[in-house]
Amino acid sequence: MSFFDSSIEFLKGVGPQRAVLLQKELKIFTFGDLLQHYPFRYEDRTKFYSIKEINEEMPYVQLIGKITRFEVIGLGFKKRLVGHFSDGNGAIELVWFQGVPWVMQKIKTGIEYVVFGKPNRFGSNFSIAHPELEPASMRNEKAGFLQPVYPLSEKLRARKIDSKTISKLQQELLKISQTHINETLPDYLLKKFRYPGKKESINNIHFPSGIESLNAAQSRLKFEELFYLQLRLLKMKLFRYEKFKGQSFNDTAILTDFYKNHLPFTLTDAQKKVIREIYNDMKSGHQMNRLLQGDVGSGKTIVSFICMLLVIGGDAQAALMAPTEILSHQHYNSLKKYADAMGISIGRLSGSTKKSERKILHEKLRDGSLKILVGTHALLEEEVKFYKLGLAVIDEQHRFGVAQRSKLWQKNAGLYPHVLVMTATPIPRTLAMTLYGDLDISIIDELPKGRKPIKTTHQFDSHRLQVNAFIKVQVELGRQVYIVYPLIDESEKLDLKHVMDGYESISRSFPEYAISILHGQMKSDAKDFEMGRFLKNETKIMVATTVIEVGVDVPNASVMIIESAERFGLSQLHQLRGRVGRGAEQSYCILITSFKMSPEAKLRMSTMVKTNNGFEIADTDLKLRGPGDLMGTQQSGVLDLLIADLGKDGDILLKARENAAEILDKDPELKEPKHQSIKNHLSSLKKSVVNWAKIS
Ligand code: ADP
Ligand code: MG
Repeated sequence: MSFFDSSIEFLKGVGPQRAVLLQKELKIFTFGDLLQHYPFRYEDRTKFYSIKEINEEMPYVQLIGKITRFEVIGLGFKKRLVGHFSDGNGAIELVWFQGVPWVMQKIKTGIEYVVFGKPNRFGSNFSIAHPELEPASMRNEKAGFLQPVYPLSEKLRARKIDSKTISKLQQELLKISQTHINETLPDYLLKKFRYPGKKESINNIHFPSGIESLNAAQSRLKFEELFYLQLRLLKMKLFRYEKFKGQSFNDTAILTDFYKNHLPFTLTDAQKKVIREIYNDMKSGHQMNRLLQGDVGSGKTIVSFICMLLVIGGDAQAALMAPTEILSHQHYNSLKKYADAMGISIGRLSGSTKKSERKILHEKLRDGSLKILVGTHALLEEEVKFYKLGLAVIDEQHRFGVAQRSKLWQKNAGLYPHVLVMTATPIPRTLAMTLYGDLDISIIDELPKGRKPIKTTHQFDSHRLQVNAFIKVQVELGRQVYIVYPLIDESEKLDLKHVMDGYESISRSFPEYAISILHGQMKSDAKDFEMGRFLKNETKIMVATTVIEVGVDVPNASVMIIESAERFGLSQLHQLRGRVGRGAEQSYCILITSFKMSPEAKLRMSTMVKTNNGFEIADTDLKLRGPGDLMGTQQSGVLDLLIADLGKDGDILLKARENAAEILDKDPELKEPKHQSIKNHLSSLKKSVVNWAKIS
């Protein structure tokens, strides 16, 4: 056991009770965890403001002055202590809701204090709730230069554990850690990038001696984190490439037949390019693990079918797994058109497939007479066994974990099947490199010709009548319309109420049209029924929650109306918009919001109005929200980075990946003496740093 594995309980100043809190609230179990609990920002305590300068935008201010008098205001739980604070030029209220006796005892009027906190406006006055106070005479100028602010929780604050407490613990820990901190990067890399050593960086991250050394420490630690992340991903890829032989498919006769006789349109150059990439993988003798990224409507389905053909031509089978029942049915229907034309048998399997049907499916899969199986998670069930699975296509992969992917691998008795992961969520390069860092990536960066770009507008909900008039015009022209409602609440009932209210109001506004409704609480055959009616153009308007988000393809639907659009993230808005613009007609997307919007929401709307480019949108999204909130990555756990930020640290990430790749290229086993530090660190890295079980 290393020094850094020591339980946090045994650090001076912690003890059993605080240890429990630190474990529960901050996941700090060991010395190492605490040392890697980095500040998320630093406060510049060299600057003082005059009370007159205060404005609402300031995240915090530091003032110097005196409390002139105290008073207690309000009753019951509104009762609070107010200290009137003046710096000679202006006055501000310091407010305490809790700990009043303590304040009354400790804080005196008439002596000079340094006050620190976040200013809030009340009418024309400002106040600071629960400020930090320190007698001006006690101030240590040097220590106060850049004060670290640590991630905390409400519970910790309530138990009087604040940034200062953490800082004191860090100080204790650093005192006894110095001889234990090992360098984790090779010397030549440190020199190459002029990075400080590990020890220096750790000390500076917690107690910066100046802004420059802080920046250097941050860059180094970010690089280190991303370097090891990439190194592990690339190692995984390398390992698989060498270890997993792949079935080799190179009989293209069946492809030629399809291209000649059944291809419904000319493939785009981008589609041709990715088909070539995939084809090269599938004949290489190595197992393919490839991500196929392509904006909504870019035509991934036909690409996957063509890859399936290659496999079927080689006497093997193909499976496609989608995250939802609706999606899997849609895939089934689109693939069936092509499969029927080619005389290839195709089946579908989901949770709702009847037992009797299942039995037949299972048998046909085993004897190889069923060539293509499309379905949901149900594909992973034990009884699903293939005669020879050559290709597994996974749609919208980030909803499945690697554990599930590897379950699919096991579906073939011999060599692992080739795996093609398809996603319509454009992911910025930096994120793709991390989320899918162990996959090869193919991108369809071109839409089929003749598509008219979707026209997007933003309307306030006060313009609902105009929007309704527009719906009417479009429906009279023969088009169909989606109206989507957000998930308002965790509570399913509220969510349902929202869409139900919408459905009623739409039904009242358009008594002459048949209207469909689709939401998550419907049974899957009811969903299918409604979806089917809409597909057949029997219903003109589809009122739905976000269940229609991914993959649903109704070419005649040309209007997407998104209610409470401010509640959606950018990627999700883009996904929803992608449901239209699939046919030959001009399509429209109308984003409806209330008048009151946050600045971020405004930026989201204007971005949507401005561009149809999914990658541009994903980039803005990443910058706005950070990777943790990006669609599909919320629960991934992959992105629980300690210090690096994929939204901002793209440059460092590229550098880290390049260098990791170069090292593995020259010294894949890390045998060279200069890579000893990397080898040591890799083996000591804890599993919890990155949740590998969940990486895609
Ligand atoms: P996605 O990439 O979103 O899954 P789809 O595969 O569903 O896109 O394709 C969207 C629509 O575009 C489908 O109706 C499909 O038939 C059509 N399509 C695909 N490729 C082409 C192409 N090269 N030319 C014309 N239409 C195409
Ligand atoms: Mg699709």
